[in-house]
Amino acid sequence: NKIWANRYQLVKKLGKGNFGTAFLCKDLRHKSTDQDGSLKVLKEISVGDLQPDETVDAMHEARLLRQLDHPSIVQFHDSFIDGESFCIVTEYCEGGDLDMKIADYKKNKKLFDEKTVMDWFVQLLLAVHYMHSRRVLHRDLKTRNIFLKKNIVKIGDFGISRILMGTTDLASTFTGTPYYMSPEVLKHEGYNSKSDVWSIGCILYEMCALDHAFDGKSLMSVMYKIVEGDPPELPSKYSRELSDIFKLMLKKEQDKRPTATELLKIPLISGHLAKMS
Ligand code: ADP
Ligand code: MG
Repeated sequence: NKIWANRYQLVKKLGKGNFGTAFLCKDLRHKSTDQDGSLKVLKEISVGDLQPDETVDAMHEARLLRQLDHPSIVQFHDSFIDGESFCIVTEYCEGGDLDMKIADYKKNKKLFDEKTVMDWFVQLLLAVHYMHSRRVLHRDLKTRNIFLKKNIVKIGDFGISRILMGTTDLASTFTGTPYYMSPEVLKHEGYNSKSDVWSIGCILYEMCALDHAFDGKSLMSVMYKIVEGDPPELPSKYSRELSDIFKLMLKKEQDKRPTATELLKIPLISGHLAKMS
């Protein structure tokens, strides 16, 4: 049974993603009596031959991520190099990801009620606001990177693509899924905090409609709709106010999109936030 860094013992493979493979592990140095607390996720990212300066960059970024501490962000615990891999250890979220949860509702022909959507949406906004105020962008927001733990949603892989930006190998292979990419990213005009806002808008749509906001038979048709197409309408079950917020988040021009800070001041959102705490 594989053990990384003399400390993290393999329990099972969770799955393979863009950046590498995720494993459920047991932290052998975990001291508390709460046994579930010893379960962590170890992500093994194959980096091939890292240049020494790239290794330093990656370790430096990882150290920054460890300082981030927010209830709706998957906690970053550790990172190290293991052979040809860069390993990242994070909190384990046993509730699975939002993509699975949405697929489940879709299969049973159910829609989430607006209160549930708002609880999750507001938590996502708080997490994004927290990160953006620390000048960290996510760059890969998607339902598969949002996890459920009890009734809390947590954003995972925050800043991971930033760690990998410095690593030449991975920067070029970072393609990701196109569904959540903003027009400016597709047009190679640069990624910025408004691009994360766009992605959260796409996720809001998916929580309501259980489908991608922009979909098509091919990559090209999805990309074309993102850049040129009108955003879809939320199902009529949801309020006018929520639908208006969604439309603001999917403005093609990034300057017209609100920031996370501005979104949190909109009455529907600030009102919901007041009821949550
Ligand atoms: P991707 O984000 O491209 O799906 P990942 O490597 O991030 O790839 O994840 C691979 C699998 O592991 C996914 O099924 C995901 O749901 C699961 N996973 C990743 N991180 C966690 C975590 N912190 N807690 C629970 N499951 C996770
Ligand atoms: Mg992921």
